[in-house]
Amino acid sequence: MSDRLCLPRVLPGLHLGCRGQLAVVGVHGPGRHPAAFLGKPVADRGDNGRMAAHDGREASRGPRPSRCREAGRGAGRPPRGRTRLLAMAARLASNKNGRGSVRYVVLGNSVAGIAAAEAIRRHDPEGKIDVVSDEKAFGYSRAMLPLYIAGKKTKRDTVFAPRDFYSSRRIRLHQGQTAESVDVLTQQVRLGNGKRLPYDRLLVATGSASRTLDVPGKELQGVFLLRRMTDAEAIKRHLRSCRGPVVIVGGGLVGVKTLEAMAGKKKEVHLVISSDRILSQMLDRTASDFFLRAFERHGLHVHLQTDVTAFHGRERLEGVALSDGTRLSCDLAVVGKGVTPNIGCVRDTGVALNQGVRVDTRMATNVPSIFAAGDVAEPVDVLQQRNLPSTIWPSATEGGRIAGLNMAGVPATFSGALRMNSVEILGVRAISAGVWEGGEQLTLLRPDRPLYRKLIHADGRLDGFLLLGDVRCAGVLTSLVKTRAEVSVQALAKDRDRGFSYRPRLYALGGSIQTGECGGMRN
Ligand SMILES: Cc1cc2nc3c(=O)[nH]c(=O)nc-3n(C[C@H](O)[C@H](O)[C@H](O)COP(=O)(O)OP(=O)(O)OC[C@H]3O[C@@H](n4cnc5c(N)ncnc54)[C@H](O)[C@@H]3O)c2cc1C
Repeated sequence: MSDRLCLPRVLPGLHLGCRGQLAVVGVHGPGRHPAAFLGKPVADRGDNGRMAAHDGREASRGPRPSRCREAGRGAGRPPRGRTRLLAMAARLASNKNGRGSVRYVVLGNSVAGIAAAEAIRRHDPEGKIDVVSDEKAFGYSRAMLPLYIAGKKTKRDTVFAPRDFYSSRRIRLHQGQTAESVDVLTQQVRLGNGKRLPYDRLLVATGSASRTLDVPGKELQGVFLLRRMTDAEAIKRHLRSCRGPVVIVGGGLVGVKTLEAMAGKKKEVHLVISSDRILSQMLDRTASDFFLRAFERHGLHVHLQTDVTAFHGRERLEGVALSDGTRLSCDLAVVGKGVTPNIGCVRDTGVALNQGVRVDTRMATNVPSIFAAGDVAEPVDVLQQRNLPSTIWPSATEGGRIAGLNMAGVPATFSGALRMNSVEILGVRAISAGVWEGGEQLTLLRPDRPLYRKLIHADGRLDGFLLLGDVRCAGVLTSLVKTRAEVSVQALAKDRDRGFSYRPRLYALGGSIQTGECGGMRN
């Protein structure tokens, strides 16, 4: 298929290629398999003993029936009483009852599900692919919703899988249909309309849902979550009819991006955050302080270490009460207090769950023929070497693609989830990956301009980095963290050829290299 799906580059600075991969330099050394960096031979990781090519590319082509196998490390053990049930499911999974084509069912029509469907169709031209979505929209980018609210992107701009994506790949899309439950014995998905969809391979890519703020008044008109296009449309509509201040609750990606969207609306805007910094999942104190000062300059009000204790109003929102006793009047509130994985349809099925669905490096669950990817899945984390939620776009893209390949019988391994993110706030970019505290710190800080680069080195490896202002070499650094390649502090500071040199630019800019904690930067 020549017209490949090009997923949008949602993370400025982290380039997603047409196959949704990070465009990074020198990811794997010659002859090394990505799984080798995780410290275990591939065959030990539930790959049915077949070696995958580098970077998850296929080692052989064509769909193959899945086999009954031991669950890979990290996929979790089923409760004892379910062992027989799982064995029966395994027998069913390996038997297509003489039918010619494989029936694939994908639950969730967002980035993970779409990347999987794309990978399946590439390698199995005959298979029957059904994608089930409880939304009515075609595949769109949630990361762009704040830009849509801001009026900087149209609804159409957010769509990365339009109608003809499905028709040209013969994918049947069930829009506005909820997958209520999965029967692993008969291998069927029960839909909200009562229909049953039989499957040979199932992908759970149901993503996550926004956490609600459980305080009085949360149901008032004017209090919104922001997860779906319908939320963004409702916020836009409400904005047209309200003149008063806006309160945003939560300093994560959703909160900060919404804050920026509101900044251009000539409104009084307040950001209420429980912690002492914004984007605590990706910034340290220094970087957060930089952006907080920028917010102040733009007239945006930030309330740190404070919670919303109630929303007030009769039918419509009129104000919020904060835990420090402050009362803010407002017409609109957007809550971004984290997410919970949508695991409802696989609860009590024998599929191993933590907060999300546990998967091995093939994105396979412990139940034969059932895979999971995206926000709902818990893959093995590169640094912590255990199953953890990874609710970011790059994990969903790559996890979905790897799941799709394995579902189509093409062995591929996910090299592991890595905490990383990239944002552009008020024109300044920041990118981080891995960890950005602890270890030996190599810091470049320019006090009089937005320039801050910090590398965390431990045990001969780069454990993470944080770049602000100058985000060059983010791809190289990401690959160093992800592959767990050995690199010395000296090499990080000196090596010009590989593009992460500090000294030449340091002299040019007159900044300082420090190890240990650093001070602030002016902006
Ligand atoms: C406002 C916003 C900004 C973001 N910004 C960034 C960013 O800058 N960088 C970044 O990395 N990530 C960002 N994210 C997160 C990113 O969008 C998610 O990681 C990504 O969308 C996860 O994709 P997914 O395919 O796993 O699931 P989702 O995108 O959550 O999609 C899952 C789909 O499955 C559907 N579904 C759920 N249950 C069922 C069911 N039972 N039956 C049928 N359908 C079902 C859902 O309705 C949804 O359509 C942002 C998210 C939001 C909301």
